[in-house]
Amino acid sequence: MTQTIALLGHPVAHSLSPLFQQAALDALAVDARYEAWDVRPADLSIAVERLRSGSVLGANVTVPHKIAAMRLIDRPDALAERVGAVNTIVRADGLLRATNTDVVGVLRALTDAGARVAGARVVVIGAGGAARGVVVAMREGRAGHVTIANRTIERARALVALGGDELAIDVCALDVTSVPLRDAIAAAAIVIQATSLGLPHSPGAEASPIPSGLFVRDQIALDLVYGREPTPFVRAATAAGARASDGLGMLVHQGAASFTLWTGHEAPLDVMFAAARAAVAG
Ligand code: NAP
Repeated sequence: MTQTIALLGHPVAHSLSPLFQQAALDALAVDARYEAWDVRPADLSIAVERLRSGSVLGANVTVPHKIAAMRLIDRPDALAERVGAVNTIVRADGLLRATNTDVVGVLRALTDAGARVAGARVVVIGAGGAARGVVVAMREGRAGHVTIANRTIERARALVALGGDELAIDVCALDVTSVPLRDAIAAAAIVIQATSLGLPHSPGAEASPIPSGLFVRDQIALDLVYGREPTPFVRAATAAGARASDGLGMLVHQGAASFTLWTGHEAPLDVMFAAARAAVAG
């Protein structure tokens, strides 16, 4: 029987996950279909119940359901509890278990970029759902210190507890003229852009939250946003001699970790990256 893996989101039509996940399933001859389900928030509990069917291997969960899905599944793991959000559901032993592979996704993207997280000073720009996963990833990767800069500073303060006893975190306003932000970026080995600025076809599509002059040569700059053209953040960082990459790597790595949880197979990363890059270019 052909198995199903669902993507629960709203909207989902733009998502690259069906393309690179199906390419991976086909490459390993796994008899499964990866399907995008456009699920409105009011219908999320019905969609999660559909995952209990015998032909379902699991699901990905994306915007805007990552937090709401937590209370609908049977067993979030410790990482999902820590982030407060799930992006991967696995049906096993009659239960819906869930985790958050965005955490490993960002760590592997940083490794690919040549970054060493352990002991590093890190600046995270943004304090939304994606930034939560990034901050937990910095704790898992034993970063030395994190500064969270956000337009709404109260939202940054709400993330400080994610560091627990293990990771020192301070916060500042996302004001490029302010000394605390400029000093934090000057001292950082890694700067991670986790706001929605730079997202193609959005009002902030042409904006980088950090101007080129603040980056440091050879610093690692990772944008969670990606698109056909280099993002404004990537362009600004590159112009200053920083080593910049966009969010496609994190997207594929989180998907690869989910793929292994559903299928038990090592994910064919080269196939997934090729399909994702082709979809972005096309
Ligand atoms: P979110 O929860 O809506 O948070 C949005 C963040 O962007 C907040 O920090 C918000 O600041 C900030 N922001 C929005 N407009 C801004 C502006 N004009 N100026 C300054 N800051 C602004 O969104 P999210 O889920 O965290 O997602 C953030 C981005 O990450 C999205 O573009 C998403 O596509 C991307 N993402 C990528 C991956 C990947 O795998 N590559 C995974 C997850 C997310 P305030 O708090 O002040 O509103």
